[in-house]
Amino acid sequence: MVSVKCRYCDRPAVTIVRYAKLNLCTEHFSEFIESRVEETIKRYRMIKKGDRVVLAVSGGKDSVGLMYIMNSLSKRIGFSYTVLHIDLGIDEYSRRSRKVVEKHCRELGIDCIVIDLGIDLGFTLPQFVSKLRTKRVCSLCGIVKRYIMNAVALETKADSIATAHHADDILVYLFKNFILQDYTFLKKLVPVSIGVEETVATKIRPMYEIYERDIALYTILKGLEFVDLECPFKNVKGFEESIKKFIDEIENRAPGTKISMLRKYAKTFSLDRQEKSIDLGRCSICGLISQKDVCTFCKLTEKAFGQAKGSLVKEITRSRCTTYCVKPHLN
Ligand code: SF4
Ligand code: ZN
Ligand code: ZN
Repeated sequence: MVSVKCRYCDRPAVTIVRYAKLNLCTEHFSEFIESRVEETIKRYRMIKKGDRVVLAVSGGKDSVGLMYIMNSLSKRIGFSYTVLHIDLGIDEYSRRSRKVVEKHCRELGIDCIVIDLGIDLGFTLPQFVSKLRTKRVCSLCGIVKRYIMNAVALETKADSIATAHHADDILVYLFKNFILQDYTFLKKLVPVSIGVEETVATKIRPMYEIYERDIALYTILKGLEFVDLECPFKNVKGFEESIKKFIDEIENRAPGTKISMLRKYAKTFSLDRQEKSIDLGRCSICGLISQKDVCTFCKLTEKAFGQAKGSLVKEITRSRCTTYCVKPHLN
């Protein structure tokens, strides 16, 4: 607890936002974070009035916090959003995550599309992992989640799909891919990835300039329930931890460096990436974006289960979505 007053009122400050040189009480801190997300959305022209957004929510502190921020901004900016939760079928971790997300959706009165891998697609993530005998569980999980997010956003005719990646997540990926000299991936870490009609949805990252500690504090101070269980597959690599420490040290010495790095990066890569995505082709099975004849999701599901499951994701979404579905999809 910091024994100084809030910059804007007489209440005691609960935190110091060093990059903004602000001591803030609970209420003004929440307002500050919400307005920072609003500025980020406006700065990068992520959402405009009347847009319909799909927000991917896992149930962790970042996505639960963002859900509430989006709720207040949807009224201010004038957009609507629906939540997408992917139930990966990872035992207790998935059960609790889904329960938390559904509870928040009920409380906020937001539509929630749940894609349950086990029931809807016939396999859970652990079953997929064991069929493929892979040790790279998180990369496989990433392929599944990205595929479903894209398919749901396209099928529901949403203007964009939003994820809860924050500044620290993005900077770690940036440094990691720079060290590995993986420029294909490096170029994707922009605040907005413009989609291509019918094959790839526009992706937005409203917390591009929000620090991990700040969104965690926002969620905790608001008293929001989130899943504090670690995914049993989580394997924090020493390499990524070292990058994180290095970035934090720079930020400690010069508060605000994380934001300025991200702004410069976004400025350099945004246009370049936009031109790139237009070149990509379509999967011959499911019709979504793919660099090869068959997309990775269809290829891997076919390898593991003898059937490509891409088209199934689209069918499930069509049968489940309500708010954003245009009439022909419901027939
Ligand atoms: Fe998926 Fe890995 Fe995250 Fe678990 S830790 S939810 S496997 S990406
Ligand atoms: Zn205050
Ligand atoms: Zn496919």
